[in-house]
Amino acid sequence: MEEYLRQIPSVDQILANESIENLSKRYSHQVVVDIIREVIDELRQQILAGEISEDFAISTERIVKQVIKRTDEWINPNLKAVINGTGVVLHTNLGRSLLSQSAQERILEVANNYSTLEFDIEAGERGSRYDHLHELLIYLTGAEDCLVVNNNAGAVLLALSTLAQDKEVIISRSQLVEIGGSFRIPEVMEQSGAQLVEVGATNKTHLSDYQAAITEDTGLLLQVHTSNYRIIGFSKQVGLEELVELGGQEDIPVLSDLGSGTLVDFTEYGFSPEPTVQEEIAKGADVVTFSGDKLLGGPQAGIIVGKQKYIEQIKEHPLNRALRVDKFTLAGLEETLRAYLDPQTLLERVPTLRLLTLDSEELKAAAEKLAHGLTKLAGITVEVAKGYSQVGGGAFPTEKLPTYLVKVSSDLLSAHELNQRLRYLEPPLLTYIQDEEVIIDPRTVKEEELEMIIAHFTTVLEEE
Ligand SMILES: *Cc1c(COP(=O)(O)O)cnc(C)c1O
Repeated sequence: MEEYLRQIPSVDQILANESIENLSKRYSHQVVVDIIREVIDELRQQILAGEISEDFAISTERIVKQVIKRTDEWINPNLKAVINGTGVVLHTNLGRSLLSQSAQERILEVANNYSTLEFDIEAGERGSRYDHLHELLIYLTGAEDCLVVNNNAGAVLLALSTLAQDKEVIISRSQLVEIGGSFRIPEVMEQSGAQLVEVGATNKTHLSDYQAAITEDTGLLLQVHTSNYRIIGFSKQVGLEELVELGGQEDIPVLSDLGSGTLVDFTEYGFSPEPTVQEEIAKGADVVTFSGDKLLGGPQAGIIVGKQKYIEQIKEHPLNRALRVDKFTLAGLEETLRAYLDPQTLLERVPTLRLLTLDSEELKAAAEKLAHGLTKLAGITVEVAKGYSQVGGGAFPTEKLPTYLVKVSSDLLSAHELNQRLRYLEPPLLTYIQDEEVIIDPRTVKEEELEMIIAHFTTVLEEE
């Protein structure tokens, strides 16, 4: 042990190494010194703990390699681009919606300049950050008023806190949803200080169940869209119109949490029916909440639209300040919403909508192009086959989007190893595994990424 400890080079010896000198030129000297100390210290701890094997040799070269690797890891971005080969369009773990070209430009513009964020140019005085989206949202949804917050979970929490704190909220048992990543209606309800009153059964709820549950403490009737699941078979839900009528009679507001609210009717593209935001407003919902980055195709945001009387109360709630939306989101969302003004160019402009409605001939051509490039490589077998993509983001849970998949298997590596090695390259390529084959779905792959994928496979196979 003593012998090993004596062999550890000093920080200065490592610093004198040529590669490290180059590293110090690119990065801060202090950072490099700190990382050298860290690596040396870890090595010392390992030796003291007897964690190194008999034939272990301490070499400067080895330490230098580690220092370079760690400095690169530390200096390079952690939050970075990946190639999404999974075909899941609204992949929550991969950032959900991609933004339109014009939304990206507007975000850069407000990043690079002072802006009218809270300034009214005409009046020459302080304005409101919420005014920028007002006209667009009113026009597109038919609502009286609107508000945008950090995300939809925040929107629901804020609306419940404002409208139903210390009051009872009636909801059907079939709608007590959990959205991936810790959003559960009963828990959000508890956090808001509202009391949950569940009515009906898992499969069936009747209007009379709501009627029977109303007391003088009832503050809200809540409808939550079952975004990520469907109850089929012997089932019945109360329609929004009926709830609105009941609410009107009893003077109780109705809140509809749409989740992945959409402004376009997806049945036009062969999807099963999903309620649009405008439909919910037309049916008389007092407040409707939905996400900015799900089917809408914008940045992360929670959008609240509805009757002015309630939206004004919601705006006044102190929690609104805590959930405040930032200028980049506002710029990106404004531009995304603007795309909806022209249905002719909408699908071309908003990537989420474009990817969801891609033509299967286009997908087939992309799959074949990719397969053609991969077939030339030794050590893998490549096949193009019909399959399905997923919408993701807890939207259209039962919808299967026809696509063409590129399926790769290798004699040199297991599907698991291949999937992992592709993920370790720059930019990481994310694939999925089915029946011991690595699958790439071209739906979520950009044209220019096809070449990168081929290069990645080349790299991995050459290493073998
Ligand atoms: C996705 C979803 C939410 C949460 O929205 P975020 O934008 O992820 O915060 C809430 N309610 C429903 C019904 C949803 O589908």
